[in-house]
Amino acid sequence: MRSLPISWNASEGGKTNHRSPLSCETMSPMIIASVEIIPVRLPLREPFVIAYASYPDTLSVMVRIRTKAGAEGWGEATPDANVTGETWGGTTETLRRDLAPALIGRDARDRETALHALDARIEGAPAAKAALDIALHDLVARSIGIPLWQLLGGRARDTLQISRVVSMGEPAEMAAAAKRHVADGFRTVKVKVGDAANPQLDARRVAAVREAIGPEIAIKVDVNQGWRNPGTAIQAIRAMAPSRPAYIEQPVLWWDLEGLAEVRRQTGAIIMVDEGCHGPRDMLRAVNLRAADLVNIKLMKTGGTLNALKLNAIAETAGIAAQIGTMVESSIASAAGLHCAIAMANVKTVEMGGPLMLAEDIGDACSWYQHDLVSVPDTPGLGIAVDVDRVRQFSEAWWTIDA
Ligand SMILES: [Mg+2]
Repeated sequence: MRSLPISWNASEGGKTNHRSPLSCETMSPMIIASVEIIPVRLPLREPFVIAYASYPDTLSVMVRIRTKAGAEGWGEATPDANVTGETWGGTTETLRRDLAPALIGRDARDRETALHALDARIEGAPAAKAALDIALHDLVARSIGIPLWQLLGGRARDTLQISRVVSMGEPAEMAAAAKRHVADGFRTVKVKVGDAANPQLDARRVAAVREAIGPEIAIKVDVNQGWRNPGTAIQAIRAMAPSRPAYIEQPVLWWDLEGLAEVRRQTGAIIMVDEGCHGPRDMLRAVNLRAADLVNIKLMKTGGTLNALKLNAIAETAGIAAQIGTMVESSIASAAGLHCAIAMANVKTVEMGGPLMLAEDIGDACSWYQHDLVSVPDTPGLGIAVDVDRVRQFSEAWWTIDA
């Protein structure tokens, strides 16, 4: 076996500083002194119902990373047991016992090596890793004095247009909810369906929404794996074709990329992969199988912004446009997703509606929304003013990991 004639000195990222000494303050090391881990429970305005679950509130784990010099950055994990395989309690413990200790003493600027160190500790755990990735990015961007989108690649667009989600329910209820969202100024609605026992009812759900909102408003259909197998999915997609859905998201079980490819071939529908594509490896498989036209990128699936950039690079190269999607996230993780959507030219649609769904938030991202348009500010980092008193009010515990 041949080896490269040159070698790099693969130092432990953050443990040594090889940079030339510069006078600029921001070029000084940003050594991580502590990581705080705070599980919080934030109430929703109304329960969120999709094919596999119903949520009365959102369970997040906030993290705050602080450097020796006193710089700080915030991150958030919103694990989803059905999607990322992580629970709220498990994510808290993973961060506390395994991942946060791996960051202490590292230079926060070396985000790539920090994330490799996390990967070396645990395979998977993407939401937990996303929290730390987001906090590192917030910290570094704040310290340099630039907004996160600038750190990620610059502005690809000025504003983002988002859609509102209609929870799965009776057709008449869903039609009424869609009508409300359109009256509020939304030009796209996302309809949750996925009844494998009765795909005709799903077709009636979408038809009722179409009837209520007229021909101009785009309807995105998210099945959340609910039709399970390609046969049911093909039947359901054909039944709802008269309602002209813009695309069909994740019609089959997450692991069945071959089945997704079959649905795409048989129906000719525009197919988005969501639960079936977590990170860059899944994206590569989806490309090879010709399984999707679109991909829903969520930071909680990728493990944060750096992996989102890698996944997006594969998708973009294959001609697959991206959506930046979301779990039900507070201002912190939502802001990180919005910064990604501002920075990635390949992103065509955005669904960062978390702050609009929360009855109580720990940040102020809600003020970025105007009807269905979102403007991301130029303030440094995530641009979120975290209300620490509210974090405390909704917290269930608060741990500090330090040396
Ligand atoms: Mg989805």
